[in-house]
Amino acid sequence: MRVAMIGTGYVGLVSGACLSEFGHDVICVDKDQAKITALEAGQIPIFEPGLDEVVAANVKAGRLSFTSDLKKAVPGADAVFIAVGTPSRRGDGHADLTYVFEAAGEIAQSLDGYTVVVTKSTVPVGTGGKVRDIIAKARPDVDFDVASNPEFLREGSAIEDFRRPDRVVVGCEGERAKKVMREIYRPLYLHETPILFTSRESSELIKYAANAFLATKITFINEMADLCEKLGADVQDVARGIGLDGRIGNKFLHAGPGFGGSCFPKDTLALLKTSQDAGALTHIVDAVVKVNDARKIAMAEKIERAFGGVKGKTIAVLGLTFKPNTDDMRDAPSLVIVPHLQKAGATIRGYDPEGTKEARKHLDLTYCSEAYEALSGADGVVILTEWNEFRALDFARVKGLLKSPLMVDLRNIYRPDQMAEEGFIYVSVGRATRKPA
Ligand code: NAD
Repeated sequence: MRVAMIGTGYVGLVSGACLSEFGHDVICVDKDQAKITALEAGQIPIFEPGLDEVVAANVKAGRLSFTSDLKKAVPGADAVFIAVGTPSRRGDGHADLTYVFEAAGEIAQSLDGYTVVVTKSTVPVGTGGKVRDIIAKARPDVDFDVASNPEFLREGSAIEDFRRPDRVVVGCEGERAKKVMREIYRPLYLHETPILFTSRESSELIKYAANAFLATKITFINEMADLCEKLGADVQDVARGIGLDGRIGNKFLHAGPGFGGSCFPKDTLALLKTSQDAGALTHIVDAVVKVNDARKIAMAEKIERAFGGVKGKTIAVLGLTFKPNTDDMRDAPSLVIVPHLQKAGATIRGYDPEGTKEARKHLDLTYCSEAYEALSGADGVVILTEWNEFRALDFARVKGLLKSPLMVDLRNIYRPDQMAEEGFIYVSVGRATRKPA
């Protein structure tokens, strides 16, 4: 199959590279010329484990190429995927579909022969219909279908997620479009990946419902964590105890500083707006958004309490990205917590293994080139992101570098008993604070 991927960001680049690995001929398009120039020179503009190898192998095999000229990619393609950004619209939280509609207009100009135009971007219910109208109006002469194929990959494990998804969801009408989509995902039949065909509307909603449900799980366990702290229970035990119930499942039950990232915050907000507009308000999602927003501030206040006030204090912050194994800073909890601490008078020394370049665009702090450098002379340390390299810190060295052995761990990466034994005042989430004996 010949595939054009419009938008070569986190989703477009991973999807394009993996579809070429499936054996398809893929051209990835981006209007950001700098991105295309970098890719043509063999550089990967984002940090995503394993992506460089997949891109390099498939470019070498002649199945994957890049261009900033959409007109070179669309003619002759069996499927044209739209994988452009759908950020929150400023002010009202609706998904901003400007990039999707622009892409649809540009695609329309270059269509020839039967093509399936596929929205891979996360888009509100009804967007596929609007894309169809844009194309039909611009090009009444062309033969095409519009399908919805939401993406469920997670940054940090995107390649594996694309290669072995739990399911593929396709929303489309008509056998011709189904046939093309089936053919594109045929390589997954080997893993017996379920391919779920639905209406376009259901497919569009599945993506939002999935993200809202996962965000709800995280928010639920975060509230349980607060309750645990009041009642003397341990949220890790509670999460394990409920997660072993097959009806609940153990994933997304890790208490922390609130969800962030490029999807959950904007998608819960967009679903909320959709539900308001439809006159069927999703009260649970409404509560999730509010609780999660409040949580980031609550976590900053928790840090303030742990430090006995932060005015004039220096705080080492380990981890700035919204989760490990990505350089993505979009809606990261650090973007709320760090400025809050700075406003309260703290000096921040920060370190992130891969996120520094992105973080610099948003946070003004002292950036360090490794964890121990950030700790040097600080009054205490805060763990904001659970990068692997923070899981095995040399405790003696940490204590030697800090002015006082205070660790606030918002990701619960250590065992409280062990930290007390190691001589730390250890504050975590949903578990009792421990002090050295
Ligand atoms: P991104 O911002 O990383 O990438 C979008 C790219 O599209 C940019 O490089 C931009 O220059 C390009 N672009 C915009 N308009 C264009 C046009 N007309 N022609 C060519 N290129 C154009 O965004 P992303 O994180 O990859 O997300 C893309 C979509 O996928 C969003 O709807 C998002 O909600 C969804 N999604 C993201 C994830 C994730 O983990 N990032 C997961 C699942 C779904």
